[in-house]
Amino acid sequence: MRTHDLDAVVLFDLDDTLFAHRRSVRLGIAAHRAAIGNAVAAANEDLEHARWHSLEELHYTRYLRGELDFLGQRRARARDFVAPFDLDLADDDAADRWFDDYLAEYERSWSLHDDALPCLDALEAAGGRIGIITNGDIHFQTSKIERVGLAPRIEHVIASGDLGFAKPDPRIFRHACAVFGVTPSNAVYVGDRLNTDAIGAADAGLRGVWLDRSGAADASELASAAASGVLVINSLDELLPALTG
Ligand SMILES: [Mg+2]
Repeated sequence: MRTHDLDAVVLFDLDDTLFAHRRSVRLGIAAHRAAIGNAVAAANEDLEHARWHSLEELHYTRYLRGELDFLGQRRARARDFVAPFDLDLADDDAADRWFDDYLAEYERSWSLHDDALPCLDALEAAGGRIGIITNGDIHFQTSKIERVGLAPRIEHVIASGDLGFAKPDPRIFRHACAVFGVTPSNAVYVGDRLNTDAIGAADAGLRGVWLDRSGAADASELASAAASGVLVINSLDELLPALTG
């Protein structure tokens, strides 16, 4: 590959784009349930994981909207999850302890997607500058970035928790471009959520890339992507060829 053939800033989403969030959550909640034993032993693993995932979506979205603070969304997830079982987490300290025990198991499971580091290395070799825009708390997201070995490769991390606005608000994408000192037309944004990430970025003037890891995009999603000029890839291995091809 020629060097410096990619004159762009390439910004990434963190969870489920570079960082294997769902896999870590699945392992984490399974280990936590095993550790606390009979109290949450009912039902099947897939069902409980799906329930935990949907509670995360529900209450994390409320946090991003400003309806709950960061601790509040954790407490709400813990309380709703144990509601079918004989556990009382009404007390904030009890809810925090339950969530912290889950968090310890989740953190033990932290890992990157296998295609993340090869992709970043190839972009860097091609002259790309690399950053992250994430909807979350800067301290929590930074601890993930450091632990999984991303930190040396990332020039700047932009977190919604610091700014008061979150993806898909165009301000967060434009803020990231300003931090890098580039115009949006010289920046790319790659994420696993079509609307929040790829179309949001495209609406702010960046090149949006949707990472559809499952390959499950339907016709209307592909039409929305095309209408916004969003590139669709199924693996980060496809990113550099798609940008330079
Ligand atoms: Mg994501």
